[in-house]
Formats: sequence, C-alpha cells, structure tokens
Amino acid sequence: MTTALTSTSWPAALTPEQLAIVDIPTPFLITDLDAVARRLAAFRSALPGIQPFYAMKCNPSPEILSTVRANGASFEIASLGELRMLERLGVDPAEVLYSNPVKPPSHIAAAYAAGLWRFSFDSPNELRKLAEHAPGSAVYLRLHVDDADSAFPLSRKFGAEPHEGSDLLVLARRLGLRPYGITFHVGSQCSSTDAWRQAIDTAGKIMASLLDEGIRLEMLDIGGGFPARYAGDVPSIEEIGAVVMAAIGDVLPYQPGLLAAEPGRHLVAEAGVMAASVIGREVRGGENWLFVDVGAYHGMMETIQLPEGWAFPVRTSVTASGSASVIASAELPFTVTGPSCDSSDTMFYGLSLPAAIDVGDVLYIGSAGAYTLSYASDFNGFPPPTPLFIGG
Ligand SMILES: *Cc1c(COP(=O)(O)O)cnc(C)c1O
Repeated sequence: MTTALTSTSWPAALTPEQLAIVDIPTPFLITDLDAVARRLAAFRSALPGIQPFYAMKCNPSPEILSTVRANGASFEIASLGELRMLERLGVDPAEVLYSNPVKPPSHIAAAYAAGLWRFSFDSPNELRKLAEHAPGSAVYLRLHVDDADSAFPLSRKFGAEPHEGSDLLVLARRLGLRPYGITFHVGSQCSSTDAWRQAIDTAGKIMASLLDEGIRLEMLDIGGGFPARYAGDVPSIEEIGAVVMAAIGDVLPYQPGLLAAEPGRHLVAEAGVMAASVIGREVRGGENWLFVDVGAYHGMMETIQLPEGWAFPVRTSVTASGSASVIASAELPFTVTGPSCDSSDTMFYGLSLPAAIDVGDVLYIGSAGAYTLSYASDFNGFPPPTPLFIGG
C-alpha cells in the first residue's frame, strides 16, 4: 500500500505550485542543484575526514557531476564509459576509484592507460586480470558484509568472505599489485546504522591480520548505501556519521591515510522531482487506474524492483490549484501505470490521490533524483524524462 503524503524531504523550490509554471512538456525530471550541494555539505560535516567519491551510476547528469565536483567530491565509477564522461568534464582519472569488482579486461586496460590507478576486486580471478591489464596498480578488496537491512542488497553478487580477505591481499602483493585497501557496500538504502559498525569491525580484523604479513593498508572505503527519505523514516546522516566515526576510532588497529565513502542515492534522490501527466483514467476490475506518461521503463524502475513496491512521495497539480481545494479533500486509491502497452510498467498500487484527478493533471513524484534518469529508456516510443535543473 502506497500513500501520498507531504514529505519533509521535498525541495522548497520544487513545490507543485512552482512547477505548474514550468513550460516544458512532461515527462521531466527537475533537480535542485543547490539541494545536492547542501546534501554533500551535510554529508561532509557528519563524516569529517572521510572523502566522498560520488557513485555516479545513480545520476550521471553532467550538471550533477559538476555540482558535486565543485563541492569537493571525487567520483566512483563502474565502467570505462563512466570514466570517459568524467574526462569530458575535466576530471583527472587519478582521482577516481574504479569500484566495480568484476570489470571487462578492455575497460581495465583503457582506464589504466588514462591514469586511473585504484581498482577494486573480490577474487583471485579479478586480481590476475588486474595484474595483466593494470600491472602495479593499487587494489582494494570488496568485502561481503551483512546487507539484510537495506532495500536493495548487493552482497549476493559481490564481495569476498572476510576469512579470505587477508590471503587475497597477500596474493595481490605476490602478483606485483599494491595491496591498497578494503571496501564494502552495506546495500543501497540501508536503514540500520549497525550495518556500518559491523562492516568496519570486520575490515579492522583483516587490517590487523595483514599487519602480521607486513602489509599496512592505505585506504578504508566505507562504500555507499546511505539512505534518502522517500515516504518513510530513515536514519539521518548525522546518526550514521556518529556511528561510523565512533567505529573508526574504536575498532580499527590503525587509521589508514585515506578514509573514503561512495555516496550515491543519499546525495541526489531528494533533490529531484519527476513530473508526469495523466493521459488516461479508467476503471479496470473495479479498481481506479491512472495512466501517466512515465512508467517503470521511463525512469521509475525502482517501483518494480521489490515485491512490495517502493513508496515514493507523490503530490499532484490537483491539490496545487486553489479552486480544486474542495475536491482535493476527497481521495481515492489508484493503481498508477505507465504509458506503454506492457502492464509491467505499473508503478504504484493503492496510491491515495485526489478523487477528481483526470487527463491533463500532473503527478509530481518526489525523491526521484537517483536511479531514475539513468535507468530510463524510450521503450514503446515514449520519450524518457527531460532533465531540467535549477540552482547551482
Ligand atoms: C551503487 C554503488 C554505490 C552507491 O550506492 P548508493 O546506495 O546509491 O549510495 C557505491 N559504491 C558502489 C561500488 C556501488 O556499486
């Protein structure tokens, strides 16, 4: 069950009243770049001394990349394509972390040739690939950690088991690579501060056993997973920061020279609002269905990634217009689907919306700045959302 609500995370500059005057056809995704800058500033003050490397996969718009760069962040990439985008903006590959644990050999070689020197890995196979295509490079181990408290887990796909960690970094040295660090990812949209504490504790144990091998690591990278506010409550960055900083002080045998993090969703999700027009309203099987010009394949993919759905905060142009205030008080549950001929692009079930909503009205989907545009296709001939920006 999804409910429309007034979320505190909604950027003040992007209310339905203000968006009503945007003279661009829907769908569009409008992002407040000042909100991104404020998130990054809050992240840095909650995690002092931890260098943010923005995980660009969650929103690689050049305007966002330039904003996070101007505010002191570097970047984390998954592919050569992402590195090329950064190079076009003038980013030095030497500042970039390549944190995808399983990489195409050709991407490794080209990134290395461009000057990128830090690569993650989680297996002997990947180490051998790196030794061949990026000889002498610095490598950091991706650890398997508990991600049970995240909405979108990653640990089935990636991560070496903690008991293998020390041997893998020793093998890296034997292959002529530089055993550089440890990283982990607690899972995207992680709701438990304890996940970070446990993961840092595990990393600390590996760091301690590596000292016996004469290996002192240069980096601890605490990855991403910092949550954004959607329709429900999540721990604040201040709460997470307090736990992380305490763990770094308490459980590590020594502090590596570089403490890094790879925030994605947390920095950009709440800064973006998706606008989608109602193109049809029908009753199907006794349910109210709303057809809109954005669906799962046009950016709202996360609504279909979980069996229970994903509750975005939603407002409408109906509540925004003063004349409709009487009608707006009456709400009905709607099934909200996309414009394509597939039913699998349906985004919300039981979403409470103004009873009067109809063709031409606009849905404003909040907290839509992450994992939306980067997933969007023109499936079935319907265009992906137009990116728009304010501030910055
Ligand atoms: C996706 C990803 C991130 C960012 O995750 P968020 O949950 O958006 O913070 C960081 N690091 C790596 C290696 C990733 O794959």
